[in-house]
Amino acid sequence: MAPGGSACKEVLESHLIFSDYDTAKSKSEANSNINITKSSPVSGGKHGTNSKNGVNDLLECPICNNLMYPPIHQCPNGHTLCSDCKVRVHNSCPTCRYDLGNIRCLALEKVAESLELPCRYQNLGCHDIFPYYTKLKHEQNCRFRPYNCPYAGSECSVMGDIPTLVTHLKEDHKVDMHEGCTFNHRYVKSNPHEVENATWMLTVFNCFGRHFCLHFEAFQLGLAPVYMAFLRFMGDDSEAKKFTYSLEVGANGRKLIWQGIPRSIRDTHRKVRDSQDGLIIQRNLALYFSGGDAQELKLRITGRIWKED
Ligand SMILES: [Zn+2]
Ligand SMILES: [Zn+2]
Ligand SMILES: [Zn+2]
Ligand SMILES: [Zn+2]
Repeated sequence: MAPGGSACKEVLESHLIFSDYDTAKSKSEANSNINITKSSPVSGGKHGTNSKNGVNDLLECPICNNLMYPPIHQCPNGHTLCSDCKVRVHNSCPTCRYDLGNIRCLALEKVAESLELPCRYQNLGCHDIFPYYTKLKHEQNCRFRPYNCPYAGSECSVMGDIPTLVTHLKEDHKVDMHEGCTFNHRYVKSNPHEVENATWMLTVFNCFGRHFCLHFEAFQLGLAPVYMAFLRFMGDDSEAKKFTYSLEVGANGRKLIWQGIPRSIRDTHRKVRDSQDGLIIQRNLALYFSGGDAQELKLRITGRIWKED
């Protein structure tokens, strides 16, 4: 049996004593409402698209609308709710106001255990089917789950697959798009002493038929204002690892070189930045590289992306 299933069984057995009365009750109620088909997935697998009293709806917590996992609780009148909501409602049933006590809805837990459901990312290409209790775990790591928009300048909530996000970056964020695996990029900023209003830029490279995000930004590293450039791969980590990139910046016979592995955009921009996994340039050095009178930042960053065999 799958790990989720057996763990659930242990929980069930240790709580049997609380629930004889209500199990009987909710069982009869459940039987009148649902058609259980043991191994065939609920059609489509989407919430709310099945009949009104479908199994999916029964397993949806009426308070928070999340799917319920053991322990599933119920009030003496049979109203079910999830364990998170039980804590939140201070022991009073949100539906009928009776004291909740500590009553489990074992029938519903067992119904859930018997179900197999398609991954929620079925429409994005995942065709796997899972026992109810392992579905959630799979979905958290499903390789078809949508990506967050990699744009770092605002709290953008757009999610989607890579082609969708590439179009979104181009059209909605007006991001610079470049073809090719080498680049030569100039970053100019007229007020380089304002690190607080973080200056950041994103450029997207299309190379080897894949997309890479080159981030450039200013932030405060400890007490030191720095600039940082790093690359993220628009895809999963397993693929990101197949690529290597280098970045170079310099002037007047001095040069900083960084070589690294692009990070997957599954890792947030913030996480990559905080791990300092990229080319970091102290502001003083950056201004020195900029030449002139240190009133303007003018950095030329060259780079290359290649594939390791
Ligand atoms: Zn809930
Ligand atoms: Zn109730
Ligand atoms: Zn999946
Ligand atoms: Zn966006």
